[in-house]
Amino acid sequence: MPDCLFCKIAKGEILAQKIAEDDKTVAFLDIHPRAPGHAVVIPKHHSETLLDLPDDDVAALFLAVKAVSRRVLSALRADGATIGINQGEVSGQTVPHLHVHILPRFTNDGGGSVHSVVSNPSAEPPEEMVERIKKQK
Ligand code: 5GP
Ligand code: ZN
Repeated sequence: MPDCLFCKIAKGEILAQKIAEDDKTVAFLDIHPRAPGHAVVIPKHHSETLLDLPDDDVAALFLAVKAVSRRVLSALRADGATIGINQGEVSGQTVPHLHVHILPRFTNDGGGSVHSVVSNPSAEPPEEMVERIKKQK
């Protein structure tokens, strides 16, 4: 995708602090880190969201997330991590090329859990919701 920022980083047309690369993925430090070692892992294949990414690339992406997490967390001596995707503008996605954030976490770092991102539970009974979801392809 010619005008995509992360495609340009993947191709080396825009500089980034790359920490790992293979034939299907690139990992680099986030330019506005929210934690020491905040990194993002992207597929080289342009996809806006996880749902658009071909299955082979999904497998490669998550293997890269695992390998990069291990190295980043070890280098930073982190106590844990928050690993996640902002999918869609409504969730806070600002760069429309799929990326997985790796946020090293430290005891008493002041951050919250994934549960702190939203609190908007449904009133629908869970049995009905399960049926509705299972009907989808
Ligand atoms: P999002 O909000 O879409 O989940 O995250 C996009 C991330 O990309 C943000 O954390 C932002 O700081 C990072 N980012 C945006 N532009 C650049 C850039 O040019 N270089 C790097 N390394 N990170 C960027
Ligand atoms: Zn792209």
